[in-house]
Amino acid sequence: MKSICILGATGSIGVSTLDVVKRHSDLYRVVALTANTNIDVLYAQCLEFKPEYAVVVNAQKGAEFKAKLVGTVIADMTVLIGSEALVTVATLGHVDSVMAAIVGAAGLLSALAAAQAGKTVLLANKESLVMSGDIFMQAIKDSGAVLLPIDSEHNAIFQCMPASYTAGHDAPSARRILLTASGGPFRTTPIDELDKVTVAQAVAHPKWDMGRKISVDSATMMNKGLELIEACLLFNMQPEQIQVVIHPQSIIHSMVDYVDGSVLAQMGNPDMRIPIAHAMAWPDRFDSGVAPLDIFSVKQMDFEVADLHRFPCLRLAIEAITAGGIMPTVLNAANEIAVEAFLSENIRFIDIPMVIEQSMAKFTATKADTLEHILAADQQAREQAQQVIRGLIA
Ligand code: NAD
Ligand code: MG
Repeated sequence: MKSICILGATGSIGVSTLDVVKRHSDLYRVVALTANTNIDVLYAQCLEFKPEYAVVVNAQKGAEFKAKLVGTVIADMTVLIGSEALVTVATLGHVDSVMAAIVGAAGLLSALAAAQAGKTVLLANKESLVMSGDIFMQAIKDSGAVLLPIDSEHNAIFQCMPASYTAGHDAPSARRILLTASGGPFRTTPIDELDKVTVAQAVAHPKWDMGRKISVDSATMMNKGLELIEACLLFNMQPEQIQVVIHPQSIIHSMVDYVDGSVLAQMGNPDMRIPIAHAMAWPDRFDSGVAPLDIFSVKQMDFEVADLHRFPCLRLAIEAITAGGIMPTVLNAANEIAVEAFLSENIRFIDIPMVIEQSMAKFTATKADTLEHILAADQQAREQAQQVIRGLIA
């Protein structure tokens, strides 16, 4: 029986994780669930899974949540409030696995703490890895933690690696990664119409049902940019070894090209329960609840080159990882601010890459060798991006 802590339990990945847990209650026990503000979903999850701990980050929602529990069957559950509690539950002595599924930089400290504590880290929160790069990977190596990628592409790549492969090490005989992308909702939209894109259009992904932030990232293809950086770190590769491939059917979730010319691909229906179940059962396999792939209904698989003119965010991500140092942290922070501003309808869709590019231009690639440097760069980049946005709105 393994004990799991789910950070970001109320989000898209958190909900899918609990769906997989439910199918394997003989193998997994939920110790802790965390939410930011969504206490109604958290409450229902706690009633069903009876964790020892629930964390609510938002103070007001935390107080409401505590009041809601009085007189219920889960009244004696420990409720912790505030962001420090994320680290507390991610490092509990009796937790084996931590699902890191908070969105954005807010997930960094808890994911890093789980890595430092030697947990089995199921990593969905790509932003934390992009931000902290070498520090995160070093923490995994130093503590002997096991890092299993949840991002569907990275999980696919991991599955195409030799069985003995561990994340962060050289992939023997692998010469290239083919990182697939659906192309998002605007793959064929005329470029001169992208200035009119609405929030509703941007969050409506053609293939995957996801949180709002990652849906916008998929529309700009910053998601693929973050994933390219993630792949460099997880599989110890240079940016030039990673080829982005647009594959609109989203059946192949990525490929590994070996020196002998063999290309291994992982396929499946586009449902995050597949990579989640893979990581939870690893090194075995178990049922994910996903229907078998009907290969005849696929009919056709297309592959296209990613157009960096249409998707400047992908170009910016390549520039950031190539420059190295704090630049991926700056890219991620400026992107989070720009996406927030777009979702609040303060800037246009096409302003997102502009905000990021103008913010990045103010930084040089100084070393990102301590957590303090990283957090400082993150903060400065957020302020810089806000300043660019104020200029746009004025
Ligand atoms: P989501 O918006 O649906 O859920 C986010 C979760 O994080 C929620 O539980 C929320 O309560 C929590 N959260 C938000 N802000 C927080 C804060 N400040 N402090 C603490 N908790 C906070 O997001 P999602 O789609 O589930 O994505 C989660 C992560 O997984 C992201 O990093 C995303 O890139 C990655 N990911 C998601 C998918 C997907 O299909 N949804 C696929 C691959 C990777
Ligand atoms: Mg992905």
